Amino acid sequence: MTAACLMNTYQPLPLSFAKGLGTRLWDQAGREYLDAVAGVAVTNVGHSHPRVVAAISEQAGLLLHTSNLYSIDWQQRLAQKLTQLSGLDQVFFNNSGAEANETALKLARLYGWHKGIEQPLVVVMENAFHGRTLGTLSASDGPAVRLGYQPLPGNFIKVPFGDLAALDKVAETYGQRISAVLLEPIQGESGVQLAPPGYLKALRERCNRRAWLLMLDEIQTGIGRTGQWFAFQHEGIVPDVMTLAKGLGNGIPIGACLARNNVAQLFTPGSHGSTFGGNPLACRVGCTVLEIIEEQGLLTNAKRQGERLLVRLRAELSDHPEVVQIRGQGLMIGIELAHPCRDLMLIAARDHGLLINVTRGKTIRLLPPLTIDDREVEMIVRGVCQTLKSVQQAQGVSDCTPAQA
Ligand SMILES: *Cc1c(COP(=O)(O)O)cnc(C)c1O
Repeated sequence: MTAACLMNTYQPLPLSFAKGLGTRLWDQAGREYLDAVAGVAVTNVGHSHPRVVAAISEQAGLLLHTSNLYSIDWQQRLAQKLTQLSGLDQVFFNNSGAEANETALKLARLYGWHKGIEQPLVVVMENAFHGRTLGTLSASDGPAVRLGYQPLPGNFIKVPFGDLAALDKVAETYGQRISAVLLEPIQGESGVQLAPPGYLKALRERCNRRAWLLMLDEIQTGIGRTGQWFAFQHEGIVPDVMTLAKGLGNGIPIGACLARNNVAQLFTPGSHGSTFGGNPLACRVGCTVLEIIEEQGLLTNAKRQGERLLVRLRAELSDHPEVVQIRGQGLMIGIELAHPCRDLMLIAARDHGLLINVTRGKTIRLLPPLTIDDREVEMIVRGVCQTLKSVQQAQGVSDCTPAQA
């Protein structure tokens, strides 16, 4: 099949799948792969989970869409569940992560406007990724995703991730004009970058003191990925606004923006909206995903298997000349390499029956389903080791073709 009719925005591997079940995928030729990407932190409860399949089929036979002109039962149920789990008060449903972040950014603007700030500013982080719309690109970093799209919406200030002193300096300079701070608890796209312990707590204190909104993009870290429902729960804080997407629908498109009452209530009828957002199918699947995570104990499993995977990878690879650092939390793990090697790495892993992801050219990112067991942890470790070996043998590390950002 030719892809000539598709816009050239991705460079897909020459690999296409016919079906998936649990942690496994099968290609068109029937070859089996262990999926350690999970559609980029999406299929958290595994492919074709029987309960997700049943929820989709049953709901498709009942009702797919009515629009938000009518109240939607499943939307209210999912909102109730998400607010219970997070400690936030209200939810707006979107169809994707970028849209959920747009919702958050609009809330930041409204919040500033209500406070009488003429040109409210949002503090964002270096190396952040928040999506591909014009607004979320403004909040993101990196020339690769932003080049050629200027002018982007303004009024963002960038500070280094994890650097409180830099934030304090910005506060001194811009003080009253800042309405919010937006960040990922762990930066995913930029290579699984962890903040120093206590960072979120310190941000929470500063936001309280200055009446800034603390807005967390948990699109990748949320829904159990790090071993808690949401990554902020590791630090015992609650943000003012949080966005979700990816794992919430396990493959059915859905996004959500959650907020505390005082922020959420800035929206009034007509001030925001979505045709598809919060449709019965997506919300029912969201409810089902949350139930599965609870009933199968997947938070505990993500924590336990994540720790095991980290320990085992460090045991096998810490002395490897190509490996700079192995880091992560729960089942969000990065292996930073000395040289960019993206394409060779992906192909070599594929040949070993393992699906991985490489970000920023040289960090292997592992995001397996939250259901993986002891044996699959070993399979991932073995697969990564074999992949590194194959890449070295194939070309010698220094000859690796420089990858794109
Ligand atoms: C994937 C991702 C997004 C964008 O989500 P889309 O559904 O692709 O729009 C935003 N923020 C983070 C942290 C992400 O990982």
